[in-house]
Amino acid sequence: MGLDDYVNTFGAYCKARYGERVKKLTIDAQFTCPNRDGTLGFGGCTFCNVASFNAQLGQTSSISVQLSQGKERAHSRVKCVNKSLPAPVSSDKYIAYFQAYTSTYDEFHHLKLKYDLAIEDKQIVGLHIGTRPDCVPDAVLDLLAEYQNSGLDVWLELGLQTSNNRTLKKINRGHQLTEYRQTVIAARSRGIKVCTHLILGLPGETSTDYMNSLQTVLGIGVDGLKLHPLHIVEGSTMAKQWRYKAMDLLTLDEYASAAATLIRNTPRDIIYHRVTAYAQKPMLLAPDWCAYRWDGLVAIVDELREYGGQGSALNWVNKIA
Ligand code: SF4
Repeated sequence: MGLDDYVNTFGAYCKARYGERVKKLTIDAQFTCPNRDGTLGFGGCTFCNVASFNAQLGQTSSISVQLSQGKERAHSRVKCVNKSLPAPVSSDKYIAYFQAYTSTYDEFHHLKLKYDLAIEDKQIVGLHIGTRPDCVPDAVLDLLAEYQNSGLDVWLELGLQTSNNRTLKKINRGHQLTEYRQTVIAARSRGIKVCTHLILGLPGETSTDYMNSLQTVLGIGVDGLKLHPLHIVEGSTMAKQWRYKAMDLLTLDEYASAAATLIRNTPRDIIYHRVTAYAQKPMLLAPDWCAYRWDGLVAIVDELREYGGQGSALNWVNKIA
């Protein structure tokens, strides 16, 4: 039994919607971030080094070249992973994922040009835009709503990380919960789906904070979630704190237990885009278990198998049928 047996995953959502797997193609559209360029601050969030987000980031090639290269990688991965198995049907549908930095932080006409370039490709069926909650003006939301109304599957991915304003300040996010709430309401009122990122293990936080964050996000309204363990990457402010041994990080078991608890307390209709994270060494400094792509996933599935899947800690209406 895999994650899909216990969690309403984005992969399962795509299979139900398109009848096949749909691969996300990551695009670096050369944006920057107001928390790095001095508009809000310098140095960024203390956990962040954008170079660690994805091995493909930092590209300067055009958006169409990045999409072509992403498709090639997706096809070669399918071939390589399944060498000894019957050849799987590879997808001809893709999602353009603007992931790097703050992908709504530019002049409006530049943003539109970049998004339009991506969706010109007829194999692109969805648009995912990763950004900060305080950086999504109404004009951008209106544009995303137009894409959504034209038939594209549009998701706004908002980094919140925690609903605790003290922690947000401590990690130098440069925004508070209020901005998140305003943007989510404005996006969802236009029919744009919102996926919220939460980090477990932030400094000073406990399982009570993780649950508060989840319940706050659910209370405001959300369509999808991404969970990440706090991990330390080279070049971040936290890397210095970690070197001074000023940080405790979650063990694999602690993370799996915390993530599974949140999943059990999440209504079944919320789509999990991600339940853990992985980073490559030497970019990853700690914890070591984050260097192994499948370890976090396997540990979470074990927890869910033993104690119940998504929604099982809620009332019977939300439990898995
Ligand atoms: S995590 Fe996002 S908002 Fe924070 S510094 Fe990095 S790119 Fe900017």
